[in-house]
Amino acid sequence: MPAAALSPEIQTKYEPVIGLEVHVQLLTVTKAFCGCANKFGAEPNTNICPVCLGLPGALPVLNARAVEFATLAALALGCEVRERSIFARKNYFYPDLPKGYQISQYDRPLAEHGWIEVPTADGAMKRIGITRLHMEEDAGKSLHDGFPDSATRTYLDLNRCGTPLIEIVSEPDIRTPDEAFEYLTRLKEILLYTGVSDCNMEEGSLRCDANVSVRLKGAEQFGTKAEVKNVNSFRFIRAALEYEIERQIEVIESGGRVTQETRLWNANEGRTYSMRSKEQAHDYRYFPEPDLPPLIVSPEFLSEARKKLPELPEARRTRMIADYDLTVQDAHTLTASREFADRFEAAAKTARNPRRVANVLLSEVGGRLKALGLAPEQSPVSMAGIVQAADLLDDGKISSKQMKQLFDLCFAKGEDFPVVYEREKPQQITDSSALEALIDEVIAANPRQVEQYRAGKKTLAGFFVGQAMRASNGQANPALLNELVVKKLDR
Ligand SMILES: [Zn+2]
Repeated sequence: MPAAALSPEIQTKYEPVIGLEVHVQLLTVTKAFCGCANKFGAEPNTNICPVCLGLPGALPVLNARAVEFATLAALALGCEVRERSIFARKNYFYPDLPKGYQISQYDRPLAEHGWIEVPTADGAMKRIGITRLHMEEDAGKSLHDGFPDSATRTYLDLNRCGTPLIEIVSEPDIRTPDEAFEYLTRLKEILLYTGVSDCNMEEGSLRCDANVSVRLKGAEQFGTKAEVKNVNSFRFIRAALEYEIERQIEVIESGGRVTQETRLWNANEGRTYSMRSKEQAHDYRYFPEPDLPPLIVSPEFLSEARKKLPELPEARRTRMIADYDLTVQDAHTLTASREFADRFEAAAKTARNPRRVANVLLSEVGGRLKALGLAPEQSPVSMAGIVQAADLLDDGKISSKQMKQLFDLCFAKGEDFPVVYEREKPQQITDSSALEALIDEVIAANPRQVEQYRAGKKTLAGFFVGQAMRASNGQANPALLNELVVKKLDR
């Protein structure tokens, strides 16, 4: 491990330069150029045909839905979509690529010049450029393990051949592993909102390669870069980049040169290994795909796609912060997925006080889910239940303490709020004389606060309400209690 060897003084002499290439499988029903099912997890080599196997004479036909999804993603990432883009053959030999080439796009990609904003270490927002977004097809899969004779044989599953992909290439604008993590997190979030991919990294629907180099701070030229391939979680990407940056600095500091190569991340050992020298573009002998005409994205097609664009996560957070009086952190929680944010907003609309719904959801339900390590969809309490609780609280029919007790029961028994409320029907003290007796006790016990209140510190009313509520075991009717406390104090 080189990590321990580098002093902070040496590390701060250098600046990392990071660019990311992300491959995303599109959620189309069929593959990019044939009618085979585009589905993860099928019996190996069952979703294949002459086209995706590249048998002689078979001709590709472009899936319109794949173009629609790629366009949608491009627009969501602020890219300019090219009216006329060209498919190209990327030639290379690999056992899981029976055609001997991949249909991709080269010098005329579908879209260019996009960006994603990420927060930086000092809390400001920084724009990371997107160089290009192009369409291509996936290769098959080599299965190196899991068979009795895996030591001597490799098996092939060609179901994945021809799965529609978009590749999103960032500018080398990223300067820290944290920025890379943020970029990926936001990219994934945007893509999930558009619905073009499930972005499931375990199933390989989203894969990331990172290019990283280091240079002396202030230097104009980039250093020699290494590519870290196929790391299967954003956290590992961050770790791989941290490792790789230190490794390269160490190579340079000890008088060596960084070699341009592809490296693999080993998560168990926490380090990267050299895999092969990096291919150059000319190694792939790109040329225009002769079996496909240019891809034309008409202005009409583009404006239709624009209409399908949902409100994107960052814009939605900004709006919801204003609509529901949220903190930035809370806005992130509520917009974690488009589906969840939609459900929340649909429910909040039906409540008397939408802000109260946000508050109950975040503090009562969110807090308990977090403590139990549950995902939002595992909550025993429905959105309708949260709305009911918020309305009851708003109407003063339950106190916040009673609401807390009801939610405790919901989570203890795995029952929704309306069920628990109907059964428990918490008793409220609405009898003025009973409440007045409680308030008198509290007033008698706190002469100093009474004096301060009467001298003008009116905010102390809340203190007396709280004390009296506690004395009532949380059963006092909150509105009535408030009214009586003020009346007595002002007497
Ligand atoms: Zn096929």
